[in-house]
Formats: sequence, C-alpha cells, structure tokens
Amino acid sequence: MSAELDELKDLSRALRRRVSLSDSSDWTSAPAVETKAPATPGTLAELAAKIHACRACPLGASRIQAVPGVGSPDAKVMFIGEGPGFQEDHQGEPFVGRSGQLLDKIMESIGLSRRTVYIANIVKCHPMKNPADPESRGNDRPPTPEEMQACRGWLEAQIRTIKPKVIVTLGAVPAKALLGDLTPITKIRGRWRTYDPGGGLPLIKLLPTFHPAALLRNPDLKRDVWTDMKNLQKELATI
Ligand code: SF4
Repeated sequence: MSAELDELKDLSRALRRRVSLSDSSDWTSAPAVETKAPATPGTLAELAAKIHACRACPLGASRIQAVPGVGSPDAKVMFIGEGPGFQEDHQGEPFVGRSGQLLDKIMESIGLSRRTVYIANIVKCHPMKNPADPESRGNDRPPTPEEMQACRGWLEAQIRTIKPKVIVTLGAVPAKALLGDLTPITKIRGRWRTYDPGGGLPLIKLLPTFHPAALLRNPDLKRDVWTDMKNLQKELATI
C-alpha cells in the first residue's frame, strides 16, 4: 500500500513539474516545420535557450523539457543519438538511463567523459507512443522523419558551433539522418564516413556504431563497439 502511495506521490510531483515547466502553448500541437540553422550559430547556451523555447513540431507539446545536449563547447568528439527518452525528459540531460550509464563506461574505456565530449540527439524532445499518457513507462518511440526534419536545424547549428573533429553516431537513426544513407547499421557500423556541416566548414569524420541500448539487448555487440572505440582512439591521437 505504501509503495502504491509513493508511486502516486511521484506521479503527482511529475505532473506538477510538467505543468510548471510548460506554458499554455505547450499543450497545443504545432505543425511540423523545418527549423533553420542560423548562419551564425551563436553560443551553445544561446542555442539551448532557443531549443528550450522551440515548438516547431508536435513533440514540443508533450515534453517536460527539451534536452539540447551536454558536454564541452570545445569537444573534439560529438556523440549523437536518436532522441530523449523518459529519464532524459525528466532530467533534461541526454543518455542518463541505463543506456547512458553504459555510454559513460564506453567513453571511459578510451579516456573520454561527458565533460570532454559533447552528447546530443537528432531530436531534442521526447517522442512518445502515447503523448496523452506522458508519465507511463515504455512509452518511447523513434522520431518520425517529419520530426527529425523539423529538429535537424538545431543539431546542425550545434555542430557548426562546436566544430568537432569527429562525430560518432549511436544506432541506425542518427546515421541515416546525418548520412542520408539507408544501408542497415550492421553494414555501415565501424566504417569511417564524412559529414558536411556546410557553411564553408571542413568535412567532419563520422563513425557509425551501435546504440548502447542495442548492447544491453545483445551483449555480443560489445565486441564491435569496442573495436570502433579503439579506432576512434587511434583517430583522436592523430588530431
Ligand atoms: S523536437 Fe525539436 S523541432 Fe520539435 S519542438 Fe522539440 S526542439 Fe522543436
């Protein structure tokens, strides 16, 4: 009984927080329109403030908060995932659940941390299967192509601001979004590619690897990711 009471209190607290972090427009879906990455991107903090105010696609209506990213503005490496989940929506930071803890370990294995890299997602707000029930668990879903198109300007602006030497995409969705390549992740994982950030900036080396969530489901994939991280470490030693 007391566990049920605690659960109800948690739910009530979370709902109050969602309301307090939202203005009334949060509850109205906006049509999906493409965000335009500014020609002069500005600082990461300025970008984060704009992302927090963004309602350019319907995900802005059901989120608790947008999750712009975390890490160093001088990062040589950007890790890019798909989108925030339940935990990230509540805490405002990408990769904070079990997948995030595994990502921390993966980065630590080659001397990186979330303070020295920059971690972001293709979409900045939590895609939910049922936005009418935002506090339910297991409600995560991948972003739609329209949501990714609406949000990609923010990621492009972050990349142009940070100017990383290397981008590591985590899982199939960010690899497809940034490379425009529909080849399955199992075929492109571990193969160096390039990403054109535009704006006259140099091409950026891009390494697709598996999402940490895939490793939690299938630990056999850890060996491939370990190989990719050793390759990343070798590349960083040359920069
Ligand atoms: S997902 Fe991106 S485009 Fe959609 S509301 Fe959030 S920040 Fe804006």
